[in-house]
Amino acid sequence: MRYQRSSALFTEAGQYIPGGVNSPVRAFKAVGGTPVFMKSAKGAYLFDEDNNQYIDYINSWGPLILGHANEAVEKAIIHRVKSGTTFGTPTALETEIASLAVSMVPNIDKIRFVNSGTEACMSAVRLARGFTKRDKIIKYAGCYHGHSDSFLIKAGSGALTFGSPNSPGVTEGTAKDTLLAKYNDLDETTQIVNANPDSIAAIILEPVAGNMGCVPPEQGFLKGLRELCDAHGILLIFDEVMTGFRLARGGAQELFGIKADIVAFGKVIGGGLPVGAFAARNEIMDYLAPSGPVYQAGTLSGNPIAMAAGLAMLKSLEADRSVFERLDQKTARLESGIRSVLSCGSEPFTINRCGSMISVHFSDTPVVDLDTASVAATNTFNEFFHFLLDRGVYIAPSAYETWFICDALSDADIDRTIEVISAFAKR
Ligand code: PMP
Repeated sequence: MRYQRSSALFTEAGQYIPGGVNSPVRAFKAVGGTPVFMKSAKGAYLFDEDNNQYIDYINSWGPLILGHANEAVEKAIIHRVKSGTTFGTPTALETEIASLAVSMVPNIDKIRFVNSGTEACMSAVRLARGFTKRDKIIKYAGCYHGHSDSFLIKAGSGALTFGSPNSPGVTEGTAKDTLLAKYNDLDETTQIVNANPDSIAAIILEPVAGNMGCVPPEQGFLKGLRELCDAHGILLIFDEVMTGFRLARGGAQELFGIKADIVAFGKVIGGGLPVGAFAARNEIMDYLAPSGPVYQAGTLSGNPIAMAAGLAMLKSLEADRSVFERLDQKTARLESGIRSVLSCGSEPFTINRCGSMISVHFSDTPVVDLDTASVAATNTFNEFFHFLLDRGVYIAPSAYETWFICDALSDADIDRTIEVISAFAKR
């Protein structure tokens, strides 16, 4: 049996770990079947416990933009680990990665490192509330900003996949300060702002949403939000956990030419280790402890091994700035290939893409927000997922996720993937 050892490991894990996993989407609950337990990875490939090989389109949900076990990152980690794993003191390494990150991203002066994207977004919102002295935030249905209480209101990603976008355990008191809006609907956001004068601290969004599949911002949406925020003293928070250091050197701010007030990072910035960060210009960042009154801290924040991995990753991107262009071209090749072979099948489909983020929804309704993302046929997606998995192509086990293309992916890998999808269309 192809997944024999994975199956046994999943059963055993279920005895000691809730649902057998440490993050819900990994459980394959939406698509059915047994999650595949991975043993190793190199470049664009994953190898599971049953020795099956996969072309990887998840890349650990985004961090591994250069592929698995990238040599520069691997070397930096191994070198660093020999000098101690954590000190609980400042290190020179932290300043080195901070100054590099600040030089790459527009419109930020200072950056604070944390341990996950959740922490980054949670802290960004606290800082925005402290700075503006207002309580409410606007978030978009289908956007995911981690599992902190204020964000688990119509959240995307696993929360959506598992039917708990509003999680039990989040108090009404917390929920009332999160105002929900429709992605890409500037008029509705404007109405919400007008209905809540002087009480909105921040609008937080994924500048390209990746947690309801890939949903790019429509023309004028980000610019309109910027103007709305400026007119009402609201801070605009870009959650660039997925898009940062991926869509461009300076992330979505650079790609779309729109300035955010606070930017949250995760994934790529940690080179595959647990790292998040948030950043802003001095005026806002100096509001953070110990310079200012808004508290935020972390025992392992700025951990030397994590910083070494992140620094090696950012340095690699700086050393070869054509990487973003290349990723875009690879993903464009994938997109046009999938488009042409799925057109030969009978299922309606929509492909959304922005740079190296791409997703396939089985519906011909244009996918611009959570409502339109939810129209797609999940049964077809689930069949699609397993068809690909069984033939060595690993995509996210949910229609509500984007795929992430890595630079290690070759044209031959892309062509093989298109061949498998062609077989799916003809099945
Ligand atoms: N923001 C976005 C846009 C994300 O996609 C994610 C995770 N996928 C997070 C925040 C939370 O990051 P983490 O899982 O590292 O806490």
